Amino acid sequence: MGLIDDELQEVSKLCQHVITGSKLVSCVQTMVRVEIRRTAFKHIVACIQFPSDYPLSPLLIELKSKTLSDKLLDGLTNVCEQEAKKILGKPQILMVLKLIRNFIDENPLSCCYNEIAAIKKDLSEADELKLKQKTSSLSLKISQGKYYFKTKILVPDNYPEHSISLEDDETNFPPLFQRYFVGQSKEIARQCIQPSLKTKEKNHTLFRPSPSLQPVVSFLVASVKQIPQENCQLCNKKCLPHDPQLAETNENADSHVERIYCSHLFHLQCLITYMKTPPFHGGKKCPKCGQQIYHDKWRVSEKLAEERWAHQQARERELKEVAEFLE
Ligand SMILES: [Zn+2]
Ligand SMILES: [Zn+2]
Repeated sequence: MGLIDDELQEVSKLCQHVITGSKLVSCVQTMVRVEIRRTAFKHIVACIQFPSDYPLSPLLIELKSKTLSDKLLDGLTNVCEQEAKKILGKPQILMVLKLIRNFIDENPLSCCYNEIAAIKKDLSEADELKLKQKTSSLSLKISQGKYYFKTKILVPDNYPEHSISLEDDETNFPPLFQRYFVGQSKEIARQCIQPSLKTKEKNHTLFRPSPSLQPVVSFLVASVKQIPQENCQLCNKKCLPHDPQLAETNENADSHVERIYCSHLFHLQCLITYMKTPPFHGGKKCPKCGQQIYHDKWRVSEKLAEERWAHQQARERELKEVAEFLE
């Protein structure tokens, strides 16, 4: 038993100095319990017991965390046991604790292990997801036909209290869609960590930040896959051409694709024609979903739309009269 006593003494003396962020909760023959904490989320409790023939057998290790995934902890427990087996006959506790601490430091993406597993299920063979533990980032490329959107997603150390962010995005979608992908991703991430402005003051205290990685990636995957397959809600033709190089990038061109507030797509010319054609009563609505059409380019009041229509009709009548006169 002398060996175990010596090791317990060494652990109680050295643990908090050698293992950064550790707190020794108990250090007795029946149980050594240590909390290892990097952030509120990256937090593991190691419960260690001695087998009867210790140190000839490896330590009995149980890892607990209120935040990290059970699957991840199972894997890490397994690694700890394998490493302990390599030093049978010698003290194992500090080695195991160091290994856990290093694992937390070297695998910053462990805080979104479950989210990454769920994301992988959503991706198809055409897509790419690479984990980069060194930079705490993911490199993601989503494809649909010849269209793609590529980005680097940064996971901050204090995730999920701070949200993910996108960097180096690259795409062959027209610029309007690139702005939409990036802007909407930012907004989704923001909503995960900040209460909405609509939330009443008293509810603000109940708000808790939530993980933002999966919500953002789900949005990106759904949008990138869907948009190239969508039709213009007015002429019913495909909005984007099969070949991204042929897509209109001039935002004033007739065939430029517009995305309105309800998220449905229209050719610019189809939308202009529709907006300028009566009835105007009650405002113009999306023919697909019935929501009011709202677009920055058309902050036109009902009255003005009617006046314009009347003016245009009058002009057409005049032209017709001229034409008839010349006949
Ligand atoms: Zn159209
Ligand atoms: Zn709509």
